Amino acid sequence: MRPTILNPLFADVTSLHGIGPRMAALITKLAGPRVVDVLFTPPHDVIDRSNRPAVMAAPLGALVTLEVTVDKHHPSPTRKRPYRVVCSDETGYVTLIFFHAKPDYLLRALPEGARRIISGKMEEYDGGRQITHPDHIVAPENAPSFPLFEPVYPLTSGLPASVMRKAAQDALTRLPSLPEWQDPAFLRKMAFPSWNAAITNIHTPNSTNDISRDSTARRRLAFDELLANQLALSLVRQKQKKIAGRSFNPPVELRANSLSSLPFKLTDGQLQALNEIDADMKSPERMMRLIQGDVGSGKTIVAFLAMLNAIKCGAQCAFLAPTEILAQQHFDTIRPLAENIGVNVEILTGRDKGAVRRIKLDQLASGSLNIIIGTHALIQQDIHFNDLGLVVIDEQHRFGVEQRAALTKKGNAADLIAMTATPIPRTLALTLYGDMDASYIRDKPPGRMPIKTSATPINRIDEVINAVKRTLLEGNQVYWVCPLVEESELTDLTAASQRYAQLKSTFSDRVGLIHGRMTSDEKSRTMNLFYSGKLAVLVATSVIEVGVNAPNATAIIIEHAERFGLAQLHQLRGRVGRGKKPASCVLLYKGPLGDTARARLEILRETEDGFEIAEEDLRLRGAGEALGAAQSGFPSMRFADYHYDSELISAARDDASIIVGKDPELNSDRGKALKVLLYLFSRDSAVRLLRAG
Ligand code: ADP
Ligand code: MG
Repeated sequence: MRPTILNPLFADVTSLHGIGPRMAALITKLAGPRVVDVLFTPPHDVIDRSNRPAVMAAPLGALVTLEVTVDKHHPSPTRKRPYRVVCSDETGYVTLIFFHAKPDYLLRALPEGARRIISGKMEEYDGGRQITHPDHIVAPENAPSFPLFEPVYPLTSGLPASVMRKAAQDALTRLPSLPEWQDPAFLRKMAFPSWNAAITNIHTPNSTNDISRDSTARRRLAFDELLANQLALSLVRQKQKKIAGRSFNPPVELRANSLSSLPFKLTDGQLQALNEIDADMKSPERMMRLIQGDVGSGKTIVAFLAMLNAIKCGAQCAFLAPTEILAQQHFDTIRPLAENIGVNVEILTGRDKGAVRRIKLDQLASGSLNIIIGTHALIQQDIHFNDLGLVVIDEQHRFGVEQRAALTKKGNAADLIAMTATPIPRTLALTLYGDMDASYIRDKPPGRMPIKTSATPINRIDEVINAVKRTLLEGNQVYWVCPLVEESELTDLTAASQRYAQLKSTFSDRVGLIHGRMTSDEKSRTMNLFYSGKLAVLVATSVIEVGVNAPNATAIIIEHAERFGLAQLHQLRGRVGRGKKPASCVLLYKGPLGDTARARLEILRETEDGFEIAEEDLRLRGAGEALGAAQSGFPSMRFADYHYDSELISAARDDASIIVGKDPELNSDRGKALKVLLYLFSRDSAVRLLRAG
């Protein structure tokens, strides 16, 4: 239950002065349905009217507030010409300009001979000074009836700026006096104001500094938000760890034996991840570990070796992949290794029907199958394990919390390994996956060839096609990725089909086409033709982003590279350079490029380090975009900035783990205040949601 002290903040926005149902709907769309949502929508700019110079001293182009005498009205001579009102102070004249003026109103607002305070933008015209449509006109005895500083809020169509401003100002009058949840020593050290002072400050700025990312008010609120987030994650994590897990104690020689049965030596990163996993699996707590590593860093092998721990202790393993192509690929990687040591592995996807499916299900239920690799098909209700001890989830961000939970529930306190080949910056990982422990594989198996990356404008496509010809003559294969048009998969398809037709005229039947609208049978038939070398050029929409693995493909052409996100381009590029030959990536773009697009292509040319690329992505795009649509279910930050506030994120993380360690039920005085914080940032629901995992 939400603490009652927060009730005024969680009241409907219609409770705000002057907000009726129509404006409430617009505010809800912009900010959210509650008073607190208005408060948690900070202004992004400030109108500063505090500059009050003399007329002739006013800088041109600046917003100024002047005190003048109204000298003379010059009504519009024709409808097209403006109404002019000449005013002055002791330094000179300024003309106020009104188009489509209402003379009655102007005569009332600006009586000749009266003194007025005028605010607007000072301009020069025809050698004289003028202000067109002043924002404010008031008599000096009423001054200042308009604010010298006005916060500027983000808006949505139909919502007047003044309405949003008034809503925020009224919301400030509802502030309850909340207990302090932050550590006083920390507040002093950071020079942070109280929450009330901070939120008031943000909405009543007296300069752009007050709302800048460096303002102590903004930083205080960001830290509150981050702490709420980290605390919620820590609580979830604590709870999950309390659920008794199981301790896998495989024979000591297992690791050495299985390592020596591999056709290669593990990288340091792989060994490190494996050590971390071994320790988790031995401990009686449930393992919740995220393995982050670039495409090709060898995560699948690590997962396989972890599975052996469970299998040697008599448990089964499930390996969940987001697509059939990926499931098949993992199956192909794992099967030879598994069979080599007498481990039974099968694949289960949506295409398994009838008797084939039945047999696999029976083997799972009886326990004769050690590893099942599959897609969402693994989550179906009628699937039972004899003893599921370890769940591995690949590309885990593609699955919802419920799906993750549905699979682990089939087990008996099953351990969990989640994997992602979409490296995300540490700060983001902490805020999104703080409920898991993380391992990073930053190195690549030896012998990988660097990928030569270049950017080429689309009007030089003929040169690119010639280069493709040469690549094929050398006996290599090529991916050709077609424009991503976000609005419609159909348009994607049209573009891809056209390119396919064009390339076919050059390369005849050695070109194949694969896209998201094909059935999975059609897709795998085409993929197999490519794997077997019958197809030399594979034209694809971005369906190849995740997972295909053709070592003989040495070049990838990405059309309209400027339309892809950085992480996506990195993923796509990772399709090549998997064999022993040098590889290349051509980013075909349609100019002129904007600064951000140019910077993105530049970064790709400079580095292949997925983590570095992810950091840059975050810097260039902002967190929401860097995450992609798949993550939109996560709470977005109102005050904090994933890139800018990385230090605060780490501090919040440390703070949260100390708090949960000392006061796991949040019963101390600070603990109680922290509960208020959790509710304030609606992390109560996040806690409930995450608990499902
Ligand atoms: P990921 O799942 O991280 O994309 P994989 O585990 O599929 O990567 O590995 C990619 C390829 O590299 C596979 O063919 C795998 O057999 C191979 N591989 C993995 N680890 C090593 C290693 N340490 N040395 C050489 N090859 C490796
Ligand atoms: Mg364990």
